[in-house]
Amino acid sequence: MSETIERIKCLIIGSGPAGYTAAIYASRADLKPIMYTGMEPGGQLTTTTEVDNFPGYPEGIDGPAMMMDLQKQAERFGTEVRMGMVTEVEFSKEAGGIHKACIDNSKWVEAETVIISTGATAKYLGLPSEQKLRGGGVSACAVCDGFFYKNQDVAIVGGGDTAAEEATYLANICKKVTMLVRKDEMRASKAMQHRVNNTKNLEVRYNTEVDEVIGDQVVDGLRMVNNKTGEKEEIAITGLFIAIGHKPNTDIFKGHLDMDETGYLITQGKSTKTNIPGVFASGDVQDKEYRQAITAAGTGCMAAMDAERYLAEIETSEEEEKEVTA
Ligand code: NDP
Repeated sequence: MSETIERIKCLIIGSGPAGYTAAIYASRADLKPIMYTGMEPGGQLTTTTEVDNFPGYPEGIDGPAMMMDLQKQAERFGTEVRMGMVTEVEFSKEAGGIHKACIDNSKWVEAETVIISTGATAKYLGLPSEQKLRGGGVSACAVCDGFFYKNQDVAIVGGGDTAAEEATYLANICKKVTMLVRKDEMRASKAMQHRVNNTKNLEVRYNTEVDEVIGDQVVDGLRMVNNKTGEKEEIAITGLFIAIGHKPNTDIFKGHLDMDETGYLITQGKSTKTNIPGVFASGDVQDKEYRQAITAAGTGCMAAMDAERYLAEIETSEEEEKEVTA
C-alpha cells in the first residue's frame, strides 16, 4: 500500500541540465529541493561522449562527467538527489495548493512546488545495426556531434524541419550529406525545403529508407533501399544522423497538464508556468525547437526563480489574509 512520506517545498522531477540547474538555483534560494532522477540519471547527455558546445569548457567535456559535476554543484547547496521514478501525480488546481507525486508506485511526496524537467527522448529507427553503432557514428543530434565529421561524407534520415535544419547545418561542415526521406515529399516547411534544395553538397533521396548501417565498431557505410522499387544501394559514410523526431517524456502528466498535440508541455509566455499554479516546466519537455543543454539549463534557472516567486506571493497573500481576519 502506498503512503505519504513527507511534505517538501520543491520537488524536481528529472536530472538533465534543466533539472540540475533548477536544483542549483532552488537550493541557493533555500527551497530545499528534492530531485528524483528518473530512469536515466543525468538525462540525454549521459548518452553523448563529448560535449563541445557548453560554454565554459574550452576543451570540451564528457557528457557523463558534466552531469556528475552538475550533481555535485546542486548537492553543494543542499539539493537532495534521489534515485527513483515519479509514476503518478495529483496536482492541486488552487493557488497555494499541495501537489502530490508517487515515487516508484510505492510512496507519495507532497510538494508546494513542482519543477518538471523530464526531457524528451530521441526516436531511433530500431534497426539492430543502428543500435549497435549508436555512439560509434550513429547520432541523433547533428548540432552536438556534426563537428566530429568535418570534411567527411555523412547521411541523415528524416524529412521534417529538424532533419532539414540539421542537413543544412551538416552541409556546412561535411564534404557531402545524403538525406533520406521515406516519402516522395518532405514534411518540412517550404522555407526549409528551399534551403535544402539550394545547398550544393546536399543530396536528397526520396522514397528511400535505411536498410542497414554498415560497420563493425564504427560506421563506414550505409545500405539504402528505395521503398517503391526495392532497389538497394550502398554508399560510404562515416556518420549517420537520425532526425525523425523526439518524444517528450510526459505520459504521466496526460490529463493533468496542458500539452500540445505532440505531448510537449505548454508554458505561459516567457515563463516556465504551466496551467497549474505551482507547477513549472523546464528543458526539452517544453521545448521542441532548440533542445540544447544550454537552453535547457537556462529554462531550469527560470523554473527555480518562478517557483521561488510563486512561494513568496503565496506567503504574502496568506499574511495579508491573516491581517484582515485579525
Ligand atoms: P517531425 O515529426 O515533424 O518529422 C519527423 C520526420 O521523420 C518526418 O519526415 C517523418 O516522415 C520522418 N520519420 C519518422 N519516422 C521515420 C522512420 N521510422 N523512418 C524514416 N523517416 C521517419 O519531427 P521534427 O523533429 O522534424 O519536428 C518536430 C516539431 O518541431 C515540428 O513541429 C517542427 O515543425 C518543429 N521544429 C521547428 C523548427 C523551426 O521552426 N526552426 C526546427 C525543428 C523543429 P513522414 O513525413 O513520412 O512521417
